[in-house]
Amino acid sequence: MSPRIPTVTLNNGVQMPVLGFGVYQVPADEAERVVTDALAAGYRHLDTAAAYENETGVGRAIATSGIPRDELFITTKLWIQDAGESTAAAAFDRSLDRLGLDHLDLYLVHQPYGDYHGSWRAMEALNREGRARAIGVSNFHPDRLVDLIDHHEITPAVNQVETHPFFQRGADQAVMRERGVQHESWGPLGQGRDDLFTHPVLTDLATAHGKSVAQVVLRWLLQREIVVIPKSSRPERMAENLDVVDFSLTPEEMTRVSALDTGASTAFDHRDPASVAFLGTVRFDT
Ligand code: NAD
Repeated sequence: MSPRIPTVTLNNGVQMPVLGFGVYQVPADEAERVVTDALAAGYRHLDTAAAYENETGVGRAIATSGIPRDELFITTKLWIQDAGESTAAAAFDRSLDRLGLDHLDLYLVHQPYGDYHGSWRAMEALNREGRARAIGVSNFHPDRLVDLIDHHEITPAVNQVETHPFFQRGADQAVMRERGVQHESWGPLGQGRDDLFTHPVLTDLATAHGKSVAQVVLRWLLQREIVVIPKSSRPERMAENLDVVDFSLTPEEMTRVSALDTGASTAFDHRDPASVAFLGTVRFDT
């Protein structure tokens, strides 16, 4: 029996499971198998993106699972090349079509570049029509988040940003809380970089609780009230990453992990001009 995953109530009343399954870098021809395994393990919240080029396989797994639609929470994202009011609306339709769905639970602006204000107007319309139950953003630093909030009617329900023990986003989270935006972590396990899985503080805590480092890190994020979407292609790790609701870290243990913050991205600096220029050139068949 898979553990029951709690939900958080977003700023528009929608319930979001606090633990989901990410499919970044899952190849198109493996997505159906991987997501079928994830649903069998007990995940009900899936995170994909047009840019991952695997929405079709994710959709096939959803369809064959037989799980009632209202038990699932499905997120996808709008890529930069489709930014803009009319282009975003058309990209949303294509994503839904590939996923084989008639609505999304969460639609995100994937990157804060291009005409994302136009995209946001289109997404507000999709939200009002009920085709996207919630709308949000990703990779928005606090300045861009506040700008978007203050110049539109609907406040993003979620901001999905890189967050893990080496890049903790405490100040960002404070702004999100103040503005009613749910913090969601991408790369919760640091994408396995920088020897996260063998870090002495994390292995020490894992031993103390009879858990794995991955479970300690996910638990630490959940106790910070951050939604997590770890990815693994391996069924045993999918199950392991779900099994994090039966223990808790003490305040002292939380502080030990807090001390590991470097304050910098270990993946991709969204404010680096070269990175911004590069991402703007990346195009997908969306
Ligand atoms: P992650 O932090 O979830 O790390 C994934 C890697 O960790 C796996 O490839 C695997 O090698 C390893 N791993 C997973 N579980 C493990 C375990 N129990 N023990 C040991 N190793 C384990 O990285 P991610 O996939 O980049 O991030 C999670 C999800 O976030 C993505 O799949 C995607 O849905 C989303 N994401 C969003 C953005 C964005 O720009 N919005 C960027 C990156 C990722």
